[in-house]
This record gives sequence, C-alpha cells and structure tokens, in this order.
Amino acid sequence: MRFDVLTLFPEMMESIFSSSVIGRARSAGLVDICCTNIRDYTKNKHRKVDDTPYGGGFGMVMMCQPVVDCIRDVKSRLQGSTRVIYLSPQGKVLTQKKARELCAYDNLVLLCGHYEGIDERIIELEVDEELSVGDYVLTGGELPAAILVDCVSRLQEGVLADPDCYEKESLSAGLLEHPQYTKPRVFEGLEVPEVLVNGNHALQEKWRMEQALERTRRKRPDLLDDASEK
Ligand code: SAM
Repeated sequence: MRFDVLTLFPEMMESIFSSSVIGRARSAGLVDICCTNIRDYTKNKHRKVDDTPYGGGFGMVMMCQPVVDCIRDVKSRLQGSTRVIYLSPQGKVLTQKKARELCAYDNLVLLCGHYEGIDERIIELEVDEELSVGDYVLTGGELPAAILVDCVSRLQEGVLADPDCYEKESLSAGLLEHPQYTKPRVFEGLEVPEVLVNGNHALQEKWRMEQALERTRRKRPDLLDDASEK
C-alpha cells in the first residue's frame, strides 16, 4: 500500500516514518510512504501558499492553486485505486473499523491543512473524504496523517509478525484488550494473576474474555452500547 502525505512541513514526518515498526515495514517494501511539499507547487513568485480569509477573520487559509495542483500531480503518478483524505477536525472520527476499510485502497493521499485550514473549494474539487483524529483542534494535519498512516500500515500483511496481534487487540472485536503482564512475576508486591502462569490455555482464554468485557464495561461502556445497537 502507498501513502502520499501532502504537507507544508515534510521534515516533520520523516523521523516518525523512519522509526520502529513503520520504519522497518518501509525498508522491507511492505508499505511505501512519500511526503510531498505543497509549497513546491505554488506559482506565486514569493512561494506563498496561503492568504487572508475572504470576509475577514483570523489567520491564513491555504490557497487552492498549490494544493489542487499538488493533489493532481501526485494522483497522476499513482496506479490502482486511490482515496484522497483531508485530515480535518470536521471529519468523521477515525476508528479501527475505518482503518480496516481503508486497507481496500492501493493508495491513500493524505492532505494536511495548516493555519486556519484550506480553501473550501479544494474539498469540493479533490477530496473524497474528511477524517478527524478526535474532537479537538491541532495546529496542523501532520500528526493526524501520521496516526492514520500508522494504524493502516500495521494492518498490512507482514507488517506485524502475527495477524493475531491486531485481530485480538483493543477495539478490533469491539472490546478493549485484556490486561497484559510480563516478567517479573511480582513487582512491588503486585503479582501476575495466577491463571496466566498455570499453563491451562482454556482457562486463560476464558479469563482474557472476562477481563476484556469487564474493562470495556468500566472504561468504555459506549463500545458495548454501540455493539448492542448494531
Ligand atoms: N479552522 C479549522 C476549523 O475550525 O475547522 C481548523 C484548522 S486547524 C487549526 C489546522 C489544520 O489542522 C486543519 O486544516 C487540519 O488539517 C488539521 N487538524 C486540526 N485538528 C485536527 C483533527 N482533530 N483531526 C484531523 N486534522 C486536524
């Protein structure tokens, strides 16, 4: 799968995409992540990419010309199915289910806004979908784009060692994951639950399911309400 991140700050993205699981997936050719500087497309002689909003108001708005040209150029070089996503606090909130749906595309083009956002006509002309990472406002779409790349990348075949990693983890089955423990068996008087060290796999599976239900009820009861409404 290929991700194209369109941004005014490509240097912000490089370290995130070069490290850890995503960095390894990239080196192994399991995902392709390319960052493009929108400023390189401006036809303005001062390399301007934003201007004041019509009708007044605070801040600057990213202009149509460089952004539309950038999206079109990037898209023209892609093969296969492509979805253009604008990271925006006005979009539907990104969920694990949405991340799985996005795996159906060969290419995701991720547009990062900055300042007061982007000219509305860019959305009308070129954007297929707006996605938010939560009901709060950030200074730019770069961190949201990195979140989206991360959560969709780890669902790609081969990125995680074992598909169980994401099939059984929090939110995949509509529940939060059971608690996890590692060595030592006792830390500052707190013991790992006996069931996890006694080697009875059937009992461990039952314990995991009970814990997942209990902590979902306690921490995120809305997830259970959502499931019962379906
Ligand atoms: N004026 C805009 C509004 O009220 O909808 C907010 C602009 S915000 C300061 C600048 C950029 O950050 C946006 O264009 C968007 O790309 C990004 N952004 C901010 N919050 C976000 C969120 N919760 N999810 C995704 N992108 C976000």
